[in-house]
Amino acid sequence: MKPFSPQLVYFEPGALNYPLGKTLKEKFEKMDVEIRETTSHNQVRNIPGENDLQKYRNAKSTLVVGVRKTLKFDTSKPSAEYAIPLATGCMGHCHYCYLQTTLGDKPYIRTYVNLDEIFDAADKYIEERGTEITRFEAACTSDIVGIDHLTHSLKKTIEHIGRTDNGRLRFVTKYNHVDHLLDAKHNGNTRFRFSVNSDHVIKSFEPGTSSFLERIEAAGKVAKADYPLGFIVAPLILHDDWEKGYLDLFERLEATLPHYAKKDLTFEMIQHRFTKTAKRVIQKRYPKTKLEMNEEERKYKWGRYGRGKYVYKDEEAGPLKETIQTYIERFFPEAKIEYFT
Ligand code: SF4
Repeated sequence: MKPFSPQLVYFEPGALNYPLGKTLKEKFEKMDVEIRETTSHNQVRNIPGENDLQKYRNAKSTLVVGVRKTLKFDTSKPSAEYAIPLATGCMGHCHYCYLQTTLGDKPYIRTYVNLDEIFDAADKYIEERGTEITRFEAACTSDIVGIDHLTHSLKKTIEHIGRTDNGRLRFVTKYNHVDHLLDAKHNGNTRFRFSVNSDHVIKSFEPGTSSFLERIEAAGKVAKADYPLGFIVAPLILHDDWEKGYLDLFERLEATLPHYAKKDLTFEMIQHRFTKTAKRVIQKRYPKTKLEMNEEERKYKWGRYGRGKYVYKDEEAGPLKETIQTYIERFFPEAKIEYFT
């Protein structure tokens, strides 16, 4: 697929005080993209569209260049100690995406240009933990790889973390636009993960993202560039014939991935979950979705701050976990399974 190119770009005036802000302004001027000003990246008004749905779709191709003021990193991920805030929002249209609720009425894509301040904050977090390893997740609030060909802020982060002794970086993507990241001096400190799923899930629920084959081809390139590699199989969905669907995924993954990409692999597994709010938003934005979200058929799992989610019942989640685990062990016996959640 073609790399993302915004239809409309907003700048916060303060962003132009940073080198990346200036570079991006020049870049978009040359690309002849409409440029507007916004007082704050938190309040972008007047995104075109005659109704909410059109505005939503247009917001997903709008890029806002701003300054990240909150430099306190979030801590709520199973895969890392901290979330490093490089961008917010995504151009993909995955029906199940949690950004639909976490970003609420601000689904536009934001990129932050005060990288040195973000890196200083990361350095402090690393320092606080002394000799322990500190992992940063860069894809909690966006698909960072999908926009990085424009900003290169992920590339700079990879190199920054590459220079630390105890810092580690990780992110996950559904995009194949990795070429500019291949020569980054990552020093083995970055784990590059790709999100994969059964053919049915990719085709039914992941519009606007790279195909399975494109992702695997990119994974091969990343492994060749000596990045530690991983896969997140998520969201695991119990669709018709899911056993065969996921078996087919692992067969194709094993057959397509070059042999050098199979050493030091990690797998993470996340079952599908939703909240009542998410269900409402998804049904409004993707009214024809076939995503199953029937509360009666699920188990309510209490979360932090009393905000729970609907996951599969134990009698379904158990076999799901076991089956996927068996496939991983069969096709990638040396890989490490990090968690199932
Ligand atoms: S690619 Fe990831 S971040 Fe983007 S819409 Fe899909 S799930 Fe959400």
